Amino acid sequence: MRNLVIVLGDQLNDNSAVYDGFDRNKDAVWMAEVAEESTHVWSNKSRIALFLSAMRHYEQRITQRGFCVAYRRLEDRSNSHSLRGELLRSIEQYKPSTLVVVEPGDYRVREELRLAASQAGIPLDIRPDRHFLSTVDDFRAHAEGRVQLRMEYFYREMRRRHGVLMDGARPIGGEWNLDKENREHFPAEGPIGIASPIPFKPDRTTREIIDLVDTRFGRHPGLLAGFDWPVTPVEAEAALVDFIEHRLPWFGPYQDAMWTEEPWLFHSRLAAALNLKLLDPRRVIAAAEAAYHSGAAPLASVEGFIRQILGWREFVRGIYWTQMPAYLERNELGAAAPLPRFFWTGKTDMNCLHQTITQSLDFGYAHHIQRLMVTGLYCLLAGIDPKQVHEWYLAMYVDAVEWVELPNTLGMSQYADGGIMGSKPYVASGKYIDRMSNYCKGCQYKPDSCPITEMYWGFLDKHQDKLAKNPRMLMQIKNLKARNANSALQR
Ligand SMILES: Cc1cc2nc3c(=O)[nH]c(=O)nc-3n(C[C@H](O)[C@H](O)[C@H](O)COP(=O)(O)OP(=O)(O)OC[C@H]3O[C@@H](n4cnc5c(N)ncnc54)[C@H](O)[C@@H]3O)c2cc1C
Ligand code: SF4
Repeated sequence: MRNLVIVLGDQLNDNSAVYDGFDRNKDAVWMAEVAEESTHVWSNKSRIALFLSAMRHYEQRITQRGFCVAYRRLEDRSNSHSLRGELLRSIEQYKPSTLVVVEPGDYRVREELRLAASQAGIPLDIRPDRHFLSTVDDFRAHAEGRVQLRMEYFYREMRRRHGVLMDGARPIGGEWNLDKENREHFPAEGPIGIASPIPFKPDRTTREIIDLVDTRFGRHPGLLAGFDWPVTPVEAEAALVDFIEHRLPWFGPYQDAMWTEEPWLFHSRLAAALNLKLLDPRRVIAAAEAAYHSGAAPLASVEGFIRQILGWREFVRGIYWTQMPAYLERNELGAAAPLPRFFWTGKTDMNCLHQTITQSLDFGYAHHIQRLMVTGLYCLLAGIDPKQVHEWYLAMYVDAVEWVELPNTLGMSQYADGGIMGSKPYVASGKYIDRMSNYCKGCQYKPDSCPITEMYWGFLDKHQDKLAKNPRMLMQIKNLKARNANSALQR
C-alpha cells in the first residue's frame, strides 16, 4: 500500500485535502472508533452518538464512491480502544509507505498520530485543513507585532479578504459590527411563535449507534431519547436552510436572551455539523448573506451571525494553534476549587444553573450566553480549576472539539489566559441573568442577594488589584468601592 489516509471523526468533508492525489489502486482510507475518544473526558452520550453515527454514515458514502476503507468498529473484539494502538495495528497489517492526514482539531490527537508514525518509522504527511477560511499562518501574520489580539480587527480583515457584506472597501451599512443592536431580552410573556428546528429522525445506522452507546457508555451523562442531530451533509444542509428561513431574522436581537424550557430559541444549532465538517462555513456565510440581499433577514441579524462564523470561529482556531500546548496550563487567577458535583446532575437550588445544566445534559446543547454567563460565570466566580471547567465543556456539548472549546472556555469564559481571548473577565451579578432570562422568576433566591450576586462581589473584591489595571473593568471596580464604602457606613 502507498498511502494510509487517516480520517478522524471531525473530518467528515468529502472534499478534504487527504483525497488530493488519492489513487484507489494504491491507497486506502483508515477510520477507527475507539473508546478512548469518549472517555478521556466523561463525554455526554449525545456527543458520542453524534460522532459515531456521522462517522458510520461517512464510511457508507466513501465506500459507495469506490474507496477502500479500513474501518475499525467500537464493538470489534480485538479493538484496543486507543487511537495509536489501532493505527499501529493497521500499519502492521497494511504496511503503508506513508500516513496522510489533514491537520487534526486537537493537539493531543496530532501528537498521538506523530508518535504512531515515528514508532512505525514511516512519514506522516499532515495536510492543511481547507474547511477553514483562514490558515494558522494567516493568523500568525495577523498577530505579528500586535500587543493585544482582538477578534474585531481579525474579523474586519476576514470581511475584506473574503468580500463578505462589503460595499466596495466599506462594510455594508457603514459599520463593521452591529452588536449594540443585538442585546434584547424577551418580553414578560417570553418568546412566542418560534418555529421548532427541523428534527432529524434517527435512521437505522443512528438507531444502532444509540443502542451501542446506551449499552457501552450507559453510565455517561446525557439522554439519547430525543437525539435528532444532523449526521450527514444532506441533513446539515437542510438544518441550514431551516435556520435561514425560520430563525435567522431574529437571531441578532435575541442571541443573548435565555428562557426556561426553550433550548434553541433563534439559534442555528449548526456548530456540530460545522465542526464535524458536514457543512462548509462558506456555504453558511453565503446563505446568510443571500438572506440579507433578498430582504429575508435584516443586516443586524445577518452581520451578527456571520461574525460568529467568519470572525469568532476562525479567530479561536488561530488562538488555539498558536498558543498550544502551554495554553492548556494557563491559570491567570490561580483558581483551584473542584468542579461541583451538580454540574453532572443539574441538582442545585440556583435555578439558572439548574436550567442550563439540565438542558446541557438532556440535549448536549446550550447556547453561547448560557455557556458564558451562567455555567461559565459560576465557575469563574467560584474559582473553579480552569482545567476541570475545560474538561466539563469538552465532555458536555455535541459541538465540542478542543480547538474551539478550549479558547472559549479557558480564555473567554474563565479568563485563565490573562486576556488573550477576551479583553476582560466576563463577570456579572444575578441581575444580568434576571434581565436576560426568566430563570430568576423560578428561583428561591432574589437576584440582588443570591449566591451569584454574592460571589460576584467577592470575586471583584478578591481580584480588585489586578482588575483595576483593566480600563474595561473600571466601572465595576468603582461600583465595588461604592458598595464597600456604603457597607462600612452602615456598620
Ligand atoms: C465556555 C464556552 C464553550 C464553548 N464551547 C464550544 C465548543 O466546544 N464548540 C463550538 O463550536 N462552540 C463553542 N462555544 C461557542 C458557542 O457557544 C457555540 O458555538 C454555540 O453555542 C453553538 O450553538 P449554535 O450552533 O446554535 O450557534 P449559534 O448561536 O447559532 O451561532 C452560529 C455559529 O457561530 C459559531 N460560533 C458562535 N460563537 C462562537 C464562538 N465563541 N467561537 C467559535 N464559534 C462560534 C458556531 O459555529 C455556531 O454554530 C463555546 C462558548 C463558550 C462560552
Ligand atoms: S436569583 Fe440568582 S441564583 Fe437564582 S436564577 Fe437568578 S441569578 Fe440564578
